[in-house]
Amino acid sequence: MNMELKNNVIKGIKEVIISKEEMHKRVKELGKKISEDFKDKELVIIGVLKGSVIFFADLIREISTTVSIDFISASSYGDATTSSGVVTVKKDVDCDVKGKDVLLVEDIIDTGLTLKYLKDLFEAREAKSVSICTALDKPSRRLKDINIEVQYVGFQIPDEFVVGYGLDYTEKYRNLPDICILSSEIYGGN
Ligand code: 5GP
Repeated sequence: MNMELKNNVIKGIKEVIISKEEMHKRVKELGKKISEDFKDKELVIIGVLKGSVIFFADLIREISTTVSIDFISASSYGDATTSSGVVTVKKDVDCDVKGKDVLLVEDIIDTGLTLKYLKDLFEAREAKSVSICTALDKPSRRLKDINIEVQYVGFQIPDEFVVGYGLDYTEKYRNLPDICILSSEIYGGN
């Protein structure tokens, strides 16, 4: 565990749930698997901004096939307890995905609305295939009518609000090296 966190210097952090060492080991495994699955193919790896940037940077360096990269930024709005959330693209990719194998890289899947929307978007743009890789997954939060297959998952986590390793709370904490549970006093949760 990071010494500063151990000493509880970083305000608002309750505990570390996945250390940078555990994540590093898992990212290597994911990179190896993706390299095998896409052997002899040209993959377009699309990072979902901003939360995935650190995971994305670590992951692509563990992939040994030919890849190109791009980024997209999306926001989901609405009541997360229903399937009526609306997703909008704030920054689109620059590349044409038609006929390409696409790998979407996300920081965390919660309700699944964002990735469902993005998967549908790239399928509508006639990508040859659209796969999903996420650092974290909260399966207990998935909306019941969202059926997305997630091929590559770093870790499944319980329903806790986490920060670090790219994940933020009001744009802060992204630089923490470990995945940490944010104290509910900070965000007003239970
Ligand atoms: P979904 O569309 O799957 O409900 O939402 C996914 C997005 O919600 C993630 O990309 C992330 O921005 C945000 N999110 C969901 N759970 C957490 C969490 O525990 N911590 C942080 N920092 N963001 C989260």
